[in-house]
Amino acid sequence: MTFEEKLVSTFCCAKCRGKTAVTRTIRLPGKFPPLLSFGSEEFVLLTCTLCGYTEIYSPLAFERSEQPATETKPLPHEV
Ligand SMILES: [Zn+2]
Repeated sequence: MTFEEKLVSTFCCAKCRGKTAVTRTIRLPGKFPPLLSFGSEEFVLLTCTLCGYTEIYSPLAFERSEQPATETKPLPHEV
């Protein structure tokens, strides 16, 4: 599943609670302060198809979370 597909599948519009959205990938000039850039100039726009509300995501956050989990060790039972 791509980053965009994941965003669309979990989308819930903050404005109208719509469940459908479209994505577009954009590149912005790298003039952002470090906190906003994540070292990348590429962003994914997620736009609600009902009201047009748009959220912006950095694909790098997804890449980070997709890194192979270090050995899925079974969690100790808490009971
Ligand atoms: Zn909406």
